[in-house]
Amino acid sequence: MHDEPDHSPTSSTDAAPRHGSDQWLDGLSPATRVVAGGREPRVPGGSVGSPLVHTSTYHADGDVVYARSGNPTWTAFEATLGSLEGGLATAFASGLAAVDAVLSLVPLGGVVVAPASAYNGVVGTLDHRAVRGELTVRYVDVTDTAAVSAACEGADLLWLESPTNPLLEVADLPALTRSGHRAGALVACDNTFATPILQRPLEDGVDVVVHSVTKYLAGHSDVILGACVTGTGDTAADLTERLRVHRTLRGAIPGPAETWLALRGMRTLALRVERAAATAAFLAGRLRDHPAVERVRYPGWGAMVSIEIAGGPEAADRVCGATDLWVHSTSLGGVESQLERRRRIPLEPTTTPENLIRLSVGIEDPVDLWSDLSRALDLA
Ligand SMILES: *Cc1c(COP(=O)(O)O)cnc(C)c1O
Repeated sequence: MHDEPDHSPTSSTDAAPRHGSDQWLDGLSPATRVVAGGREPRVPGGSVGSPLVHTSTYHADGDVVYARSGNPTWTAFEATLGSLEGGLATAFASGLAAVDAVLSLVPLGGVVVAPASAYNGVVGTLDHRAVRGELTVRYVDVTDTAAVSAACEGADLLWLESPTNPLLEVADLPALTRSGHRAGALVACDNTFATPILQRPLEDGVDVVVHSVTKYLAGHSDVILGACVTGTGDTAADLTERLRVHRTLRGAIPGPAETWLALRGMRTLALRVERAAATAAFLAGRLRDHPAVERVRYPGWGAMVSIEIAGGPEAADRVCGATDLWVHSTSLGGVESQLERRRRIPLEPTTTPENLIRLSVGIEDPVDLWSDLSRALDLA
């Protein structure tokens, strides 16, 4: 295991400023934490909203000296997400920057076990590193617990994603985490699709949770941001420190404005996920009965549904082109419902069927959503 020697522009304490542990929230439910996390202290006349701090530097002799290693807006966002996941959060410039930070924990030439059907950017970055000889990847079927466990032998990192994007496969997180740890591997889980409202992998023993904050957490399709969350034990604090040193030295930092938008969006996460998940359950039921739909992939929870179109990729493209309310675009997790045939993207792993449309269910009226989608499916 390695990281850069500590020649950061600030001391190591400066690289890990005020974790904002928000301990008073312990025992409160996620729906409460998401609203009250990172709140400004109760000072008469002080602001209730978190300030958006635009600065590159600070008056000397404080905790943080330069804004590449810390920003109060990051701190408020990190305190809220950390409280939700039950650990210490570190914000990054994008979800992929957070993935990159976790991969920096793998020693040069190390072995990574990852789902063959992981998010295409994750497969892309793993392959990119493998070609450069930086690491070896063992791709697995993440639903085959025995096969994944066997592949962990001699691995440095077990990368999990559950549910997967876009196949919506669900991994047995507690069992796989035990297997990873037994083999001496670090275990990371991309929790973007589930969100901490529905799944908290640190509770299953996972070492690092990764988020594309761009999706549900920020929730309004207006920002790119990422985050890692580690647990709260001594080893986890050391991991957080290494991730923060990586962020500072690689400059993988989020902008304060993006972070502020993400925090503002995250305040309604519980409401949005609850609404979108209820609508997804309703739509999954209707979709199963539509003749144009060959297969519905829906884990029984969450707000993502994937469908395979009986008429093949051309028919799937017709559906995507025919909706008015559903937005034909890549990405997911916003307030607006979105759909996309994933194999349109050249980077998409071939594990994704050509006729698969990924549906990201938003918070619009469920009946309006079904009317629009069923009308488009009738044209398939
Ligand atoms: C979008 C996504 C990412 C990458 O996040 P960006 O914010 O786009 O960099 C990683 N994992 C999953 C599951 C995603 O959907």
